Amino acid sequence: MSNEEEFQSIMDEFRDAKKNASLFCKGASERGDVVIGSFCQYAPTEIIRAAGFYNVILCGFNYDPAVPLAETELPANLCPLIKSSYGNILGKTCPFAFYSDLIVGETTCDGKKKMYEMLQELKQMHVIHLPNVPDKERSMEGWESELHRFKEALEERFNVKITDEQLKNTIKTLNKERSYNARMYELGKLDPPAMTGVQMRNVLTAEYFMLDEKNKAVKSERMLELAKQLWDEGKGPYKKDEHPVRILVSGAGLDGVLDKTINVIEELGAAIVCYEGCCGIMNMRRPIDENDPDPIHAIADKYLEVPCAVMSPNARRFEQFRNVLDEWKVDGVISITVHACSPFDIESRALEDICNENDMPFLHVRTDYSPGDEGQVRTRIEAFIEMLQAKKNG
Ligand code: SF4
Ligand code: SF4
Repeated sequence: MSNEEEFQSIMDEFRDAKKNASLFCKGASERGDVVIGSFCQYAPTEIIRAAGFYNVILCGFNYDPAVPLAETELPANLCPLIKSSYGNILGKTCPFAFYSDLIVGETTCDGKKKMYEMLQELKQMHVIHLPNVPDKERSMEGWESELHRFKEALEERFNVKITDEQLKNTIKTLNKERSYNARMYELGKLDPPAMTGVQMRNVLTAEYFMLDEKNKAVKSERMLELAKQLWDEGKGPYKKDEHPVRILVSGAGLDGVLDKTINVIEELGAAIVCYEGCCGIMNMRRPIDENDPDPIHAIADKYLEVPCAVMSPNARRFEQFRNVLDEWKVDGVISITVHACSPFDIESRALEDICNENDMPFLHVRTDYSPGDEGQVRTRIEAFIEMLQAKKNG
């Protein structure tokens, strides 16, 4: 097999990970293994995996039938991610929720918090209460005690003991997994980039569904090697003398709007070189302290730094955003927010201000999972990219 074919076959495996994971979960459930479903980067997967459990993501990214079904019980003016997640569980169209022995929620935004109260009537749940202030002095104590409560709840419910040793091992494993993603983002620093933003997104999404952790590590390592090797040989996604405009994408709920946003940006000739947000570079390059003698403290310390708009005030996120613009030599920023997501929508304004200070073109796209606005979104993205191309070509 040539390097190109091997790279493609790994990318195909990442792309198909979600589909394959439902069969994996079915098998795990039949063997009596515990499957835990969660929704968010704030659910500490280290604690779940230290118990020997599988952790799958339950966020809904589809419109039909999940959203219309959810709207029979939830207000229509909620964000589509919340409606889709709830609707898929209500309609039993999410195999991961079906095989989950427990669902972990976290009180990020109000809509999710209230949706979880309804979800408790459909599935066994544990809700982790998240502080709103990302400042360690003000929030760390309560946050750490929430994580202890979560660990104890898992121990009690499933009759297991989660030791410090197990936690330290999973911290190492998860640090390694995040470091693969951080290295992948580094490939976006090259000009032209050694991976496309669409490829990066496929890998980021697949990460949650590759449940065989050894296979995931081997494939991630090899994918990074091959991407760089192909780039060196001039066989990357762009020709060596091609220099597409470089876009930083920021936002949440992106996986539900890939076709009309992320895919369109690259179809129109721009390159997404990095993502900002909870799946973005700053979360991936921030490891958990492996030398902290108290692993729960170390986990709490890292998770309080997840760059998400639900925190306030969010100075750390803005500082990190400034740094990424510079490090990735970005030509323009596209902030994508979904309807009714107040935290990200409002913080988009602060991102725009930072861009203005740095003479950086900025576009805010508000969209939804529902069909109908594809043309309008495409036109706005197209005009923005044309403007960036004209600017770049002098
Ligand atoms: S954007 Fe925020 S609320 Fe949404 S999954 Fe990421 S961390 Fe959680
Ligand atoms: S996209 Fe926004 S409103 Fe929706 S769950 Fe995430 S933070 Fe909450």
